[in-house]
Amino acid sequence: MPVTVKTFGTSGEAAAALSSERDARYLGGGTLVMRALNEGDVSVSTIVRATDRALAQLDATGSRITIGAGVTFARVLAERSLGFLHPVAGSIGGPAVRNMGTIGGNLFAPAPFGDFAVALLALDASVAVQGAYGARDMPIEEFLSGRSRQADGLVLSASFQRPLSDDAFRYRKIARVRPKGAAVVTLAVHVPSSGGRAVGVRIALGAMASTPVRAKAAERTLEGHTLDAASIAAAVAAAADGTAPVDDALASAWYRREVVGVHLRRLLTGQA
Ligand SMILES: Cc1cc2nc3c(=O)[nH]c(=O)nc-3n(C[C@H](O)[C@H](O)[C@H](O)COP(=O)(O)OP(=O)(O)OC[C@H]3O[C@@H](n4cnc5c(N)ncnc54)[C@H](O)[C@@H]3O)c2cc1C
Repeated sequence: MPVTVKTFGTSGEAAAALSSERDARYLGGGTLVMRALNEGDVSVSTIVRATDRALAQLDATGSRITIGAGVTFARVLAERSLGFLHPVAGSIGGPAVRNMGTIGGNLFAPAPFGDFAVALLALDASVAVQGAYGARDMPIEEFLSGRSRQADGLVLSASFQRPLSDDAFRYRKIARVRPKGAAVVTLAVHVPSSGGRAVGVRIALGAMASTPVRAKAAERTLEGHTLDAASIAAAVAAAADGTAPVDDALASAWYRREVVGVHLRRLLTGQA
């Protein structure tokens, strides 16, 4: 089936094209879209591209960080002020995927992919989406839970507060092939503290549902507490609550449920 490629100079025009054509798909880095097309996916009749430079902008100078949807993982790795995100970007694919793959595309990557989206969820990011009727910011959790509906819009960027200390944000990806395999489970935690107590805890998990999800029961066990043996044990016990892990060739849903708490403990106690 022939595929038409339409290139627009502005994100507004690209968004309008996406929302007006049912079988149109936006092309970010193409690491998933092009693979699907090459494998014979006939659900896409139009590829939409945007050359709008705003999509590739990255502002990491202040306390509020904004990453354009078109920013690649290689670019994140080259940005010294985003050091806390280097383990995340560096855990994704090999060099070719990191050179092409974008933050915007990662927000749509099906499980067990979506490692950067897991980190953005732990950072409580907000996602700017341009739809047919204008742009709006939405919390990443809302974005992910309605992800199939968002496919009609164009993601412009993701923004979030810089963690107050390097230690407040932690990331761990478990894969059978290292460093570039897809995830058995991915974990990102953001544990800001005030007066020695955790405040605003976020624990995000990848491959524990069809989209990245928060481990809210585990978050509640830490909120307002010091990170000690008792609070960590309670978080570990609750880690899999409310999740619906994927069952695939990498690991069974049962296995994922079994190991997620083990890795959460290692992350919270700072073990390698
Ligand atoms: C060999 C290989 C290894 C991989 N390893 C990993 C890995 O370790 N971890 C991981 O998380 N992922 C991995 N991936 C998956 C993928 O490369 C990444 O998730 C990447 O971030 C996808 O981004 P992209 O720009 O290439 O997306 P694309 O392929 O361009 O698009 C993916 C989807 O997102 C939509 N989309 C893209 N950008 C936008 C936008 N701005 N607005 C609206 N919709 C948009 C597209 O329409 C499409 O539906 C791997 C892929 C391959 C082929």
